[in-house]
Amino acid sequence: MAHVVIMGAGLGGVVMAYEMKDQLRPEDKLTVITKDPKYHFVPSNPWIAVKWRSREDIQIDLAPTFAKRGIDFRPTPAKKVHPKENRVELVDGSSIDYDFLVIATGPELAFDEIEGFGPDGHTQSICHIDHAEKAAEAFEEFCKNPGPIILGAAQGASCFGPAYEFTFIVETELRRRKIRDKVPMTFVTSEPYVGHLGLDGVGDTKGLLESEMREHHIKWMTSTRVKKVEAGKMTVEEIADDGSVKAEKEMPFGFAMMLPAFRGIEAVRGIEGLVNPRGFVIVDKNQCNPTYRNIFSVGVCVAIPPMGPTPVPCGVPKTGFMIESMVTATAQNIGQILRGGVSTHEGTWNAVCLADFGDSGIAFVAQPQIPPRNVNWSSSGKWVHAAKIGFEKYFIRKMRRGESDPFYEKAMLDFLGIGKLKKST
Ligand SMILES: Cc1cc2nc3c(=O)[nH]c(=O)nc-3n(C[C@H](O)[C@H](O)[C@H](O)COP(=O)(O)OP(=O)(O)OC[C@H]3O[C@@H](n4cnc5c(N)ncnc54)[C@H](O)[C@@H]3O)c2cc1C
Repeated sequence: MAHVVIMGAGLGGVVMAYEMKDQLRPEDKLTVITKDPKYHFVPSNPWIAVKWRSREDIQIDLAPTFAKRGIDFRPTPAKKVHPKENRVELVDGSSIDYDFLVIATGPELAFDEIEGFGPDGHTQSICHIDHAEKAAEAFEEFCKNPGPIILGAAQGASCFGPAYEFTFIVETELRRRKIRDKVPMTFVTSEPYVGHLGLDGVGDTKGLLESEMREHHIKWMTSTRVKKVEAGKMTVEEIADDGSVKAEKEMPFGFAMMLPAFRGIEAVRGIEGLVNPRGFVIVDKNQCNPTYRNIFSVGVCVAIPPMGPTPVPCGVPKTGFMIESMVTATAQNIGQILRGGVSTHEGTWNAVCLADFGDSGIAFVAQPQIPPRNVNWSSSGKWVHAAKIGFEKYFIRKMRRGESDPFYEKAMLDFLGIGKLKKST
């Protein structure tokens, strides 16, 4: 009998639980430890923040679903991983021993790295459903007395897609409310150019996104660092290529939402051999930690080096389909080890993304994510908005049924007409 423990029940952790269950032998046991007993579909958060979705639309109560699939569930956060003892210590003082551990704890949001930044300060966030709901209330208040808006992503951020999505969704919502003319909009980003996305661009994302910004009268500032935020005022620094400060600006705002930098969660930070200095879990091509061979990791908590130096630090995004490919490889590898084999499966680590703009959107595929790429494709149109809604409904329905589909990425690539890409081998 082997005990497999999954830490985290977000997008990566829940799909991991379903796919891992399918790989276990009858005598094996599977336990999921997490902070939040309910799952929320994070990609819908930009819609929550303008009330196009409610919490109920995107929430799944995990306890009954896991019980139905025979998965033990401990909705108690992990306090510390003790990899030399094969043990996870929980915040209630208890511990869980494991034979295999899969870390899927997503990011810790580093709002505290900038004075006055984040939902406890003066800017909004869409990273968690609680933040998105708070942002929705702030947006309602803002619409009663409209003024300038700042949207974007701070220094060290890696998740740029949702920043663009939310910008265009807000723009659409302001037009629907017939107050767009009262709202000067500025997109402020650490990226060296619009459409870099932490990936040094994909296809023509630079051209597509710049053109969308121009068409929607949204100004932008790139290579920009947020120095501090006060009530209604953001101080930013534009950084030159040599790293010097080119200009400092004080920007007034009535509403601001910026994606923060991410780091690994406290329960793993500082564990030598397991994580990098920022607390992201180090894995090999089979999703396995090189020091602790019974620890695997999937999702945003995995360490991926940046694409290359930029005047303001930018991380690499870890997107849903890529995470799903990490999950499938991990489940198959642990399944093989349990049957006396070794890890042979690898995730695709492709970046396949649909970014919704409220009534249109852009799609891109980077295969592999790190250049030189075999596929470097982007496109735009109203079909992206429809496709994103369709995928949201399909994914949430499967999650509620306790099912996963190891072919999500393939299905999306077939839909985009970009078939025959390498699936996990
Ligand atoms: C606003 C937003 C929109 C996005 N939209 C898209 C999109 O449209 N398409 C796309 O491909 N990608 C998108 N992404 C990127 C990515 O798909 C999501 O961030 C995804 O949720 C990441 O999954 P994850 O499992 O790694 O982390 P999460 O979903 O964040 O899950 C982490 C889990 O770990 C748990 N946890 C945290 N701390 C502990 C602890 N101490 N002990 C136990 N459990 C803990 C949490 O409760 C949570 O259940 C988006 C990201 C954001 C922030």
